[in-house]
Amino acid sequence: VKRDPQQPEFLEAVDNFFHTITPVLDKHPEYIKANLIERLIEPERAFQFRVPWVDDRGQVQVNRGFRVQFNGAIGPYKGGLRFHPSVNLSIVKFLGFEQVFKNSLTGLPIGGGKGGSDFNPKGRSDGEVMRFCQSFMTELQRHIGPDIDVPAGDIGVGGREIGYLYGQYRRLRGYQAGVLTGKGLSYGGSLARTEATGFGLLYYTQALLASQDEQLSGKKIKVSGTGNVAIYAIQKAAKLGATVLTASDSNGFVYDPNGIDYKVVQQIKEVERGRIKDYADRVETAEYHEGSVWDFDVDYDIALPCATQNEIDGGRAARIAQNGAAVVNCGSNMPCTPEAVEIFHSQKVLLGPAKAANAGGVAVSALEMSQNDERLSWTFDEVDERLQVIMHDIFAESEKAAKEYGFGNDYLAGANIAGFKKIADAMLAQGVI
Ligand code: NDP
Repeated sequence: VKRDPQQPEFLEAVDNFFHTITPVLDKHPEYIKANLIERLIEPERAFQFRVPWVDDRGQVQVNRGFRVQFNGAIGPYKGGLRFHPSVNLSIVKFLGFEQVFKNSLTGLPIGGGKGGSDFNPKGRSDGEVMRFCQSFMTELQRHIGPDIDVPAGDIGVGGREIGYLYGQYRRLRGYQAGVLTGKGLSYGGSLARTEATGFGLLYYTQALLASQDEQLSGKKIKVSGTGNVAIYAIQKAAKLGATVLTASDSNGFVYDPNGIDYKVVQQIKEVERGRIKDYADRVETAEYHEGSVWDFDVDYDIALPCATQNEIDGGRAARIAQNGAAVVNCGSNMPCTPEAVEIFHSQKVLLGPAKAANAGGVAVSALEMSQNDERLSWTFDEVDERLQVIMHDIFAESEKAAKEYGFGNDYLAGANIAGFKKIADAMLAQGVI
């Protein structure tokens, strides 16, 4: 707190994390002796840079760029770039800190980092976005590389932005496919990356249910969102025999007792760029409601929030439990407020934390790096099979760690501990670094 009084998001993340790590520290005095905690919360490197660019009216604009290389103990720094007006050093450090443990949990050799800019791509022309990305990469290229630091997309950074960023990197440094992930399929991207987070969420859910001697087939699921995570979660849930009752956007949601058809959602959201309201005009059994999907009462078994942060507060958490849902797995990052998390724990609703449940995206990004290294493209099924194994392992590791340290079914504590231990052991082995 003394060092970073102006970084509330980062301080909160660190505070929440270390609450769950205390029993590990009690059992491992060598971590304390090596002052691991102080080392872990200090990024290995963090930098900020000027991003000047010229808008369509010929005016010079200046944005701020960031990259935080948080921890490289187990592999090259890896984490997305976020372009959004809210981006500042505190947010980037908070996201980078969380990324360290999420990446560790995947079992793949990737360290943690995060970056971005306060640039807002919304309402900007393609030309403006391209000039911004070129200027951003002109500085960033000094600090990244396939074995050093491998950025990807996040909010405001999709396929278009990755393309422009990659083009500028290649122009300055030459061909290095593995320097960014989330690339287009024509220039080194991985099959199944688009589906990875949604599919991974369902594989994680399968593993969690199996631990309770349950299965997905026949379950009723509420999904929020109709973005990249939600669409492919809906597709995989139906494939595995569950019925997805809802899908939503920031205006409202559709409810269909016969099950949401992901192809119709995909057509509306990805092709026509329309609203989920249109779904009810096309599917007879569906009804559209304004407002949040979590304020709508219906009996169901599993909640999969896949829209945005803080979508479930205390009141909604209590309602989810009343509706009979026994499992809440987080597709979106930080969908539950701290109050909601407490209510789920007290009502014995099992909670799959985002760090574990939505790690499928970064896992397939790491598989994209492997394919780039090999100069090969794996088939969709090859990537999907590896993703399944990774997600089942993530659940198994988290469950084991939670049990070992007396946290029972608290899979958030389990995920934090499993992610932490691997990093801590690597840092200990590497000396005072
Ligand atoms: P998208 O932008 O593709 O979709 C977001 C969805 O959430 C849209 O349907 C959007 O509706 C809805 N939404 C946004 N804000 C609100 C709100 N305030 N209330 C209700 N609904 C809202 O994002 P993604 O699907 O890629 O990401 C969703 C979440 O998952 C984010 O938290 C992201 O950080 C996380 N995540 C994503 C990964 C990925 O691989 N894509 C990987 C790991 C985490 P509308 O169309 O109206 O804006």
